[in-house]
Amino acid sequence: MKLESIQAAENKLLVQTYERNPVLFVSGQGVYLRDENGNDYLDLLSGIGVSALGYAHPAVEETIARQSKRLLHVSNLFYHEHTADLALRLTEISGLDRVFFSNSGTEAWEAALKLARANSTRLRAQGRTIGTKFLALDHSFHGRTMGSVATTAKAKYREPFGPVMPDVEFVQFNDVADLRAKFSSEVCGICIEPVQGEGGIHLISSEFFAAARELCNSTGALLLADEIQCGLGRTGKWFAYQHYGIQPDVTVVAKPIANGIPMGAMLCTNEAALAITPGMHGTTFGGGPLACAVAIAVIDTMKRENTLAHVEEVGAFFKSKLQDLAKHHDCITDVRGLGLMLGLELNSADLAKKVAQQMMERRIIINRTSETVLRFLPPYILEREHVETAISALDAILKANTALAGVAPAGEKSHG
Ligand SMILES: *Cc1c(COP(=O)(O)O)cnc(C)c1O
Repeated sequence: MKLESIQAAENKLLVQTYERNPVLFVSGQGVYLRDENGNDYLDLLSGIGVSALGYAHPAVEETIARQSKRLLHVSNLFYHEHTADLALRLTEISGLDRVFFSNSGTEAWEAALKLARANSTRLRAQGRTIGTKFLALDHSFHGRTMGSVATTAKAKYREPFGPVMPDVEFVQFNDVADLRAKFSSEVCGICIEPVQGEGGIHLISSEFFAAARELCNSTGALLLADEIQCGLGRTGKWFAYQHYGIQPDVTVVAKPIANGIPMGAMLCTNEAALAITPGMHGTTFGGGPLACAVAIAVIDTMKRENTLAHVEEVGAFFKSKLQDLAKHHDCITDVRGLGLMLGLELNSADLAKKVAQQMMERRIIINRTSETVLRFLPPYILEREHVETAISALDAILKANTALAGVAPAGEKSHG
């Protein structure tokens, strides 16, 4: 009832940017969200990778309560207690040297793009030959502001807003030859997501990542790793690039950093940071006391509770269960991912849409991305029993739908 009146009001009052599911959530606890009627939903999406410690986590609640009584905002004209403490933690876990705080993912990415351009300007002033062009990848997603959409592959996100930032060329995903062909001294930065999120859970190959590193080294261009979705523990390491043993010059994080309090950060090397001097870049809200205090609580909780090992363990279990499911259903064409960033690709967009909807009817929240890919980005505190609930629901839904469509289940392949 409440839902319907809110829907009607939003339809009239909001810019129509979203197609929401018809559910009104009022609270959450652990890995569950509760709707207005008191129904609990198992959340395998965590608000698109944000609520990493789940809902109503005591460390987060207590930090917000404590900080709200002390100080919410001072602006970047003054010091506050938490900035340096958080920056120290972020540099320790990333292997990078310096941090710029923002309020969202796309702002952190804009800071990375501006840093690459400023780095290039600085190198040119020293007589080096380096241009202003970015290379970005097919299926990439870097956010919704003008620079971010310019480096985002999907035309639908760019073209209605044109002209966006010029000087971006797209490289075929994981195609080293294409990367080498398009790279030149004109390039100021190569943009990658070590694990692509919106693009459908695609892992960059070691060869491609290494080639990008080597090409950047040859000219002074910056290697920019967007870890907004795959970073800060999502894949079982603090940063997805740590699976490859390759260090970028710049990385950006956001989604899970403060468990739902808006925040982002750009991290870079000392060398790259030389390009920025006071006054060149900034933000009113970025790195405020509340967001910093909560981010410290999130990182310290993850260290104390050994969350990375948990993500790796439950993630591997989840992936193996999805792979088992794939043996029984011909409609599953691929299982991909690392840690708790997983994708199940189906052979039809309609089927993927139906499965996501029917999971929702069973009160299990998943998401569909890139048309055919079911995406799982659960809270890091997910347990095996939750995985089992989700897998048996998926199994039942896939059985029912493929039977309806007259597609024979993969009988011979099924066992156990
Ligand atoms: C979500 C996301 C962004 C944009 O973050 P916002 O906070 O929505 O601006 C950028 N890059 C990647 C990889 C993302 O997943």
